[in-house]
Amino acid sequence: RHYKASSLLRQTLVGRTSVSSSLNCASAPQIILVHSQNRSYSKLNQDDVNHFKGILNKPEVAVIEDLEGTGSSSELSGYNTDWLNKLKGNSKLALRPSSTEEVSQILKYCNSRHLAVVPQGGNTGLVGGSVPLDDEIVLSLNRMNNIIGFDKNYSILKTQAGVVLEKLIEYLEQFGYMPPVDLGARGSCHIGGNLATNAGGIKLLKYNSLHANTIGLTAVLPDGTILDNMRALRKDNTGYHLKHLFIGSEGTLGVITEAAILCPKIPAAHNVALFALDNFDKVEEVLRASKDYLSENLTAIEFFDSESNNILKDHTKHRNPLGYSHNYYMVVEVSNFDNTSTAEENTKIIEDKFFGLFEKISTVIEDGVIAQDSSQREAIWNCRERIVEGFFKEGMTFKYDFSLPIDKFPVFLDKIRDKLGDHARTGGYGHIGDGNIHVNASIKGYDNLKLFKELQKELEPWVFSLVEDYEGSISAEHGIGSFKAPYFELNKSNEMVSVMKQIKGVLDPNGIMNPHKLFD
Ligand SMILES: Cc1cc2nc3c(=O)[nH]c(=O)nc-3n(C[C@H](O)[C@H](O)[C@H](O)COP(=O)(O)OP(=O)(O)OC[C@H]3O[C@@H](n4cnc5c(N)ncnc54)[C@H](O)[C@@H]3O)c2cc1C
Repeated sequence: RHYKASSLLRQTLVGRTSVSSSLNCASAPQIILVHSQNRSYSKLNQDDVNHFKGILNKPEVAVIEDLEGTGSSSELSGYNTDWLNKLKGNSKLALRPSSTEEVSQILKYCNSRHLAVVPQGGNTGLVGGSVPLDDEIVLSLNRMNNIIGFDKNYSILKTQAGVVLEKLIEYLEQFGYMPPVDLGARGSCHIGGNLATNAGGIKLLKYNSLHANTIGLTAVLPDGTILDNMRALRKDNTGYHLKHLFIGSEGTLGVITEAAILCPKIPAAHNVALFALDNFDKVEEVLRASKDYLSENLTAIEFFDSESNNILKDHTKHRNPLGYSHNYYMVVEVSNFDNTSTAEENTKIIEDKFFGLFEKISTVIEDGVIAQDSSQREAIWNCRERIVEGFFKEGMTFKYDFSLPIDKFPVFLDKIRDKLGDHARTGGYGHIGDGNIHVNASIKGYDNLKLFKELQKELEPWVFSLVEDYEGSISAEHGIGSFKAPYFELNKSNEMVSVMKQIKGVLDPNGIMNPHKLFD
């Protein structure tokens, strides 16, 4: 056993490197080309482009066009291609407004002209929601990147929607606070995109969802109406809470332009441990023990299986300090929130927490390590956060994001492995504390599109029906986008789908917002 005593110094959670800054799938050949022929929309013309040039501040940077289709604008290609490099849209125009008022004018015009629009944040979405499927106009929020301010009395951050999450993390650090959400794509995703997808991630266990933490929002409806709800009152029980309609709506109801978000304190100290286990019952035991014993000091608990661990080794430089012979691994993060303690006291408090936990699970775990310093902390987190990179380097990947009853995780993975046989390497990992499992299955390389499509037919919709049988969700956190739109209705009652469609019809009667996303 190389179970080590921790000697941590006071550290903040902000030191992790961004996955997305060093990783993307853009080098992989495209897998799926989609041109869905939105025939019911108007065709963009030069008058439209001139109109946008007339209403937008700094049109030379706010309007990126390639109306003639000469391909001269390579910049436009980035707006047309999703992070997974699975979709390639055919948009001839990306608009980059700098204010809510400009967004309003754009949408009002598009609505009157019946031009379809795709709102786009950092374009890190994993479900094909952020890029055009045909020639929709891309409305990018990337120039709306001003942080409005931070109210220390109520720990409320006010920001424009196009601010990159990592920039918010850095900004809030000076006040000793942090955003309630964090994810591997922090270096590229926008807070507006996080809201539009109701992004989850590693902190949700402790700090809850963006629904719980968003106390103000400005959204622009397709007809240009601005819903300004930025008073940011902690308590405001006047009427329907409209802001929640836009959180998780994936750009189908309007454009989020500003938000007010409740932010938690950065813990005074934190540390992580990595445990190895030989069966899934023991994973559940460690989860229960961690929740019971660590209680409010437990700030993250994640798991990954042996195939995910092997994929990490085969395709990345990251190495698991516990090796490769175990069936499951868990990352447990413990934080201390008492700012009155000295650094040494904090070290001791967290060390005691880990040793207390260790006593409770010593007969359950096979092996374990505690990080000795910030670089070891990062190394442990990389074992979990860089798995996604490994799968994409293996080859074309089926990527699923399910909520399931925890006891169904292993049988669910086995069924998928049975289905795919030797054709793919299949791994499970994710936010076990929230019942959220990511299933990735990669075939070798990027040149066998035929096999990929055959396997896709085997898997879908079968896998989504299986989730329904287990009373889970086909999207725990990534959303529905275009990839899961055909299966969305499998997972919700007819009554719920019907009310959602009515809401869509009222707010977006012309259906210009993000067509074929969420609803097929
Ligand atoms: C390496 C990596 C790790 C990830 N980890 C996680 C994770 O742990 N948890 C998680 O939940 N997700 C994760 N994701 C997925 C993705 O980062 C999130 O869905 C993120 O919230 C998307 O933000 P974005 O700004 O990139 O939005 P985009 O990808 O640009 O857009 C996503 C959707 O939101 C809409 N949208 C974007 N901005 C707005 C706006 N201002 N108004 C209205 N609609 C808008 C788009 O139309 C689209 O439908 C990960 C992705 C990567 C690449």
